[in-house]
Amino acid sequence: MLEIKHTLCPSCSVGCGINVVSEEGDVVGTYPYKRHPVNEGKNCLNGRNSIDIYKNRLESAIVSNSNVELDKAIDEVCNVIKSKDADKITVFCSGNNSVEDIEAIKAFAESNNFNIVLYADNFVDIDFDVASYEDIENASSLIVIGDILYTNPLIGRRIIHAKNNESNIYSFTPENSVTANVSSEIFDSIDDVLDNAQDKLDESSVILFNVIESSEQLDKIKEISEKTKSKILPVFSKCNSKGAMGVVKAQSKEELSELLNNTDALLVFNDDLIPEIDFDFDSISNIVSFTPCENSTSKASQIVVPIKSWLENDGSFVNAMGETQTFNAVIESDALGVDEVIEKIQEKL
Ligand code: SF4
Repeated sequence: MLEIKHTLCPSCSVGCGINVVSEEGDVVGTYPYKRHPVNEGKNCLNGRNSIDIYKNRLESAIVSNSNVELDKAIDEVCNVIKSKDADKITVFCSGNNSVEDIEAIKAFAESNNFNIVLYADNFVDIDFDVASYEDIENASSLIVIGDILYTNPLIGRRIIHAKNNESNIYSFTPENSVTANVSSEIFDSIDDVLDNAQDKLDESSVILFNVIESSEQLDKIKEISEKTKSKILPVFSKCNSKGAMGVVKAQSKEELSELLNNTDALLVFNDDLIPEIDFDFDSISNIVSFTPCENSTSKASQIVVPIKSWLENDGSFVNAMGETQTFNAVIESDALGVDEVIEKIQEKL
């Protein structure tokens, strides 16, 4: 018999509702949660494919490329931890983790004097008021930095509404990208669009961005916003980056690389940081991944511990416009949650 349960899409920071269809304990499909206020009855392809994290979940723990019992992997994690100085152990978390998981990871790192690092698309400080999704469609002018129509389509939908409402859209986005297709004018760099389009902004305008090259650029966006009274909306690639930043201070790529240079053991909670960070990860003697499914980072890890995927988890997260949303497991699972894995490790340390 088909069963339909509601959760939130984990594929970006917009916070769209999603219905997950299961049959006899297995996830078989999705369809949009029609009455959800964020996605207005729609989900993008990334959202519809978000069930892949469940479908591709790891069947076993792995140590040195061999499948092992979970307890054996936990023992190996403890052996790695015991063999290193605490200040050479770095715990990595990201917006793929729920608020509750981030809190558990932070408590684990702090109680053992490990380093903890959060990486959120190179954003470091987002302690300012942000625009709502409604502000976008009602904006007189928009500055759009990044291909937001492609990466965050249900915010992109608001940009299209704004275009239909005759908003001017000034972008820094790849030529031929979907965002370029709706832009009034495309600029060559982030600084270029900020310098040349700021005169077009007023109090009903919004600066939207999903990429930033430096903290100076973020300062510049904030200055322009103050000067023109326009609003700002940073949009993240990971669903709970904003919520995670409320628990752990985020670090820039440079700060992260500096910390990794001083790391002998890296414990990665639910992320695939290797493709994101330009760093020689072979220089770290032990990498441990806690992940629901295989990724580039787990493939480079000596120890891989399976954890619950988003669909098997309960918790809360904070969407791009700062609203806290809660979600429930849509499928039963034998996998451990982050808090349960940490408890097992802590018991053996
Ligand atoms: S816009 Fe983001 S949150 Fe919404 S369905 Fe697409 S990937 Fe999921």
